[in-house]
Amino acid sequence: MTQPVYDRIALIGLGLIASSMAHAIRRGNLAGEITGYARSEATRETARRINLCDRICDTAADAVEDADLVVLCVPVGAMGPVMEEIAPKLKPGATVSDVGSVKRHVIEAVQPHIPQGVHFVPAHPLAGTEHSGPEAGFAELYDNRWCLLVPVEGTDPDAVERLRTLWEGMGANVDEMDADHHDLVLAVTSHAPHLIAYTMVGVADDLRRVTDSEVIKYSAAGFRDFTRIAASDPTMWRDVFLTNKDATLEILGRFTEELFALQRAIRTGDGEHLHDYFTRTRAIRRGIIEAGQDTAAPNFGRGTKS
Ligand code: NAP
Repeated sequence: MTQPVYDRIALIGLGLIASSMAHAIRRGNLAGEITGYARSEATRETARRINLCDRICDTAADAVEDADLVVLCVPVGAMGPVMEEIAPKLKPGATVSDVGSVKRHVIEAVQPHIPQGVHFVPAHPLAGTEHSGPEAGFAELYDNRWCLLVPVEGTDPDAVERLRTLWEGMGANVDEMDADHHDLVLAVTSHAPHLIAYTMVGVADDLRRVTDSEVIKYSAAGFRDFTRIAASDPTMWRDVFLTNKDATLEILGRFTEELFALQRAIRTGDGEHLHDYFTRTRAIRRGIIEAGQDTAAPNFGRGTKS
């Protein structure tokens, strides 16, 4: 049996990401003990019922006491206040990490509350589903997915290495990235696509009022994929856009320009422009499959009902 990476890990916030961590940590025997805390009694009760952690605590202070690693798994906008609350209870030498989808904002909100002698290693697992809450998690969520570590300047390299070992033990491939670069990359690969999906589903919903239920009845895979993305947690995504404002607006600006160019090509019958554009984008899909980040199977390898 391998040695645990940390004696005690505390998970603050018990949604999809934390519950998947709890399952993956247990699968890999990566912690001596896992404690957990969520702000609502209902979530704590659910977590106890499904035996998500070794101990579910009624306060964040109890959960982090004596923990070697504390992972903040709450929406990005809540990271600062939660960190402020637990700061006085942290053990010297402990590491604080997070899983927030935006990194610059989290660093600015959390770092000022990190006590002397406590390490802070921000992280972001690039894995998720549209489901939320403690029952949404599963041990395989991070298998072969990326987890980006975003250490701030001057961080103890041993603390970073230890967190890397944990994420690798949970099945992830780990890379390090600068916070601003992270936020720009994620604006392209995740944040702007989510906004586009939200918009497309909103447009279709408006149209449905005109065409009765045809939009849903005949919805093809493309639109169904949009509805799946647009079903993601509203609080989490509100916070992502409010806190990754500049990068998202930059990408949306570029997106709008490209959309106008395609619109013009359609209006003027410029088939060559459309064909060239779609040829270029098709190559990107092949690249993602070759990098092992998705499958070429029909319907993306999902069952027919998903
Ligand atoms: P989730 O399933 O909705 O769970 C969120 C948890 O945070 C819940 O336990 C909730 O407590 C708690 N919470 C919500 N608002 C809070 C507040 N104001 N103060 C304190 N606690 C609060 O969310 P998730 O999908 O696990 O996401 C958690 C974090 O992971 C977010 O920062 C998100 O950006 C990041 N992330 C998400 C994904 C994804 O695809 N879902 C992927 C990568 C990273 P209650 O249950 O008691 O309300």
